[in-house]
Amino acid sequence: MKPTHIEHLGIAVTSLEETMPFFEFLSGSKCYSIEEVADQKVKTAFFKIGQTKIELLEPTCPESTIAKFIEKNGGKGGIHHVAFNVENVAEALKEAEAFGIKLIDVQPRKGAENLMIGFLHPKNTCGVLTELCEQPK
Ligand code: ZN
Repeated sequence: MKPTHIEHLGIAVTSLEETMPFFEFLSGSKCYSIEEVADQKVKTAFFKIGQTKIELLEPTCPESTIAKFIEKNGGKGGIHHVAFNVENVAEALKEAEAFGIKLIDVQPRKGAENLMIGFLHPKNTCGVLTELCEQPK
């Protein structure tokens, strides 16, 4: 899969506004981007720590998978997914499938920050929802 680094940690939150000051404190940096990803029914906020990012995810409606995650988590947020940077998501998804990992995304799709992304099924990834990301060319 040729992973290069942890691209980001996805953390579900009930409110970006309420949680951003804590993550600004923790990362030692200001949020550099807020973006709504309509496709995934979330609003995201990004912080940088070295080359790794923290991606906060706030649900924009009750049908959002993030809203369901928060509901399952007793109404609280928490670590939602880990994202690995790879050179080529389409190839990495094929390799993961050949390794025996069930895919959530068979084809790469566009995520926040114009990354091409694909998710692996947590059933085959030790319960950790895993995202693969490719930087925009
Ligand atoms: Zn992500």
